[in-house]
Amino acid sequence: MLYPLKFRPVYKEIIWGGKNISKYFDRKTPYEKTAESWELCCRPDGMSVVDNGPLAGSSLSDIIEQYGEKLLGTECVKKYGSRFPLLIKYIDANDRLSVQVHPDDAYARKTGEENGKNELWYIVDAKPGAKLIYGLKKDITKDEFISAVKNGTVADTLRVVPVKPHDSLFIPAGTVHAILDGILIAEIQQNSNTTYRIYDWGRLGKDGKPRELHIDKALDVINFGGAAAEPQQDSGETQREILRSEFFNIDEVKLSGKLERNAEGKTLMVIMNLSGDIVISYDGGETPLKKGDTALIPASLGKYTLNGQSRLLMSWI
Ligand SMILES: [Zn+2]
Repeated sequence: MLYPLKFRPVYKEIIWGGKNISKYFDRKTPYEKTAESWELCCRPDGMSVVDNGPLAGSSLSDIIEQYGEKLLGTECVKKYGSRFPLLIKYIDANDRLSVQVHPDDAYARKTGEENGKNELWYIVDAKPGAKLIYGLKKDITKDEFISAVKNGTVADTLRVVPVKPHDSLFIPAGTVHAILDGILIAEIQQNSNTTYRIYDWGRLGKDGKPRELHIDKALDVINFGGAAAEPQQDSGETQREILRSEFFNIDEVKLSGKLERNAEGKTLMVIMNLSGDIVISYDGGETPLKKGDTALIPASLGKYTLNGQSRLLMSWI
């Protein structure tokens, strides 16, 4: 029988990472520069393995094969077949990340890559005065951008926005973006890693060489002249709609006491627990969820109750 599944985080070491994932969530991470914790992943470059209950040790892909629709939900299977639709991470930007853009599904497939990538950032923690890059400055044209790339002045074309904890930013495919230093982010995205790097701040990789750039593809997919969105802020509501999209949906829930939910078979639900410790009760047992833990609620779980004091991100298809 299925139950709320927790998984072993898959940690990634990258030059811009740090120690904030271990500090903030009180975890032991394996690297000096832990950049990402993949909380839920079903990919060749990162596979979630169950950490609780009778299915402990099984990979997410094994469980999808075994349970299919019961885990993913009818709507999810109709849209994506047996492919797991999401990639969910924490990102510790101890240093600034490269400036990048992702293609949409159509462009990615045309160029023989996997899916495109739409992503959402939720600011878990940020140093005072933290900023990030969210699109290009107003009215920057493709020609101006190409000259900036040639002249090494890309930084002048970027739109820098201030952010604080609990802000969220949707990054549609085609939006130039970069997380800058001092920010811990929860990222919910399409299951894809198709990234075109535009600018790396003159930095060198571990091997002492600049990391590869993908300017031509980036120029194909950047949405020049797109309307600039603002980060969405905490509204103070107990339950806040963060995103509704064809790719995934997200709510933020401030849990105070008990909240009843019903998994009716249509879609999986991912719960990221961002602050206090909570318990998920369901017909058949209880699953504790510590600060930082992520749980996958099977589509067929039925009624369940969340109990505790915390701030949660709930994502579904
Ligand atoms: Zn990105």
